[in-house]
Amino acid sequence: MFEIRNKNKIKIHLTIEEKIEKTKKVCSSADAIIIGAGAGLSNAAGILYAGKRFNDNFKDFIDKYGMTDMYTAGFYPFKTQQEKWAYWSRHILMNRYNALVGKPYKDLLKLLQNKNYFVITTNVDAQFYKAGFDSNKIWAVQGDYGKIQCSKSCHNTLYDNEKLVNDMVKSQQNCKIPDVLVPHCPICFADMEVNIRKDMYFVQDKAWYDAAYKYEKFLSENKNSNIVFLELGVGYNTPTIIRFPFERYTHIFNNATLIRINLGKLEIPQKIKNKSISICNNIENVLPFLLD
Ligand SMILES: [Zn+2]
Repeated sequence: MFEIRNKNKIKIHLTIEEKIEKTKKVCSSADAIIIGAGAGLSNAAGILYAGKRFNDNFKDFIDKYGMTDMYTAGFYPFKTQQEKWAYWSRHILMNRYNALVGKPYKDLLKLLQNKNYFVITTNVDAQFYKAGFDSNKIWAVQGDYGKIQCSKSCHNTLYDNEKLVNDMVKSQQNCKIPDVLVPHCPICFADMEVNIRKDMYFVQDKAWYDAAYKYEKFLSENKNSNIVFLELGVGYNTPTIIRFPFERYTHIFNNATLIRINLGKLEIPQKIKNKSISICNNIENVLPFLLD
């Protein structure tokens, strides 16, 4: 059953049920919906980076390196490429290839059926693609676990890593992969990296720029229409990608509405309060209520 978990109930004017009802109406009458998805959405989908899921699958790495969760482990300064890829291949296999499509993603797809929509996400686990969203309507700004690139970005080609990752996972021992599996740039022979934004060498290939262009075009084409910015699980890690632009567009577009759903960090700037709905609850509990 749906449980009310609204710590802000006293400060706001609507109850959570009223907010959900209002959100449902706003979405059903929208001419355009832009989904902005952050880590909270994949969390809601069960792709958890800490706790049992991490402890059960990374015991050897935890013992050897003192890792505490997959988020911080992603920044571990491995001394060798064999160790780096032993960790990363397991991380990628779990979160990119083996993770099932989460129910919140499926619900979201139902909500958007026959809608004019676009998705911008900082998630790199490809859940939107796996769930069956139109790949022409997704901009995954921060990259994709499923690709590797030159660590010095000497060229802007991305390479699929599914076979490589599987081979690395199968053949690793004592937190190391065999040297023969360590990938090198085919152009400059530098080390390779996962295509996720973590430094100035992040590769943005043609598909990335095409998606960015489509996002801007969607905004421009719908700026005067009844447009909804539906923000899911976005905090302050990289607020300049989704959060702050959504607030700005809601302010400057006459008929825009911002819907912010998250477990915290729900504050809305004063100037757009009358155009916004914030729902403090689990995304996986709220989405089913938005479906007819
Ligand atoms: Zn290179």
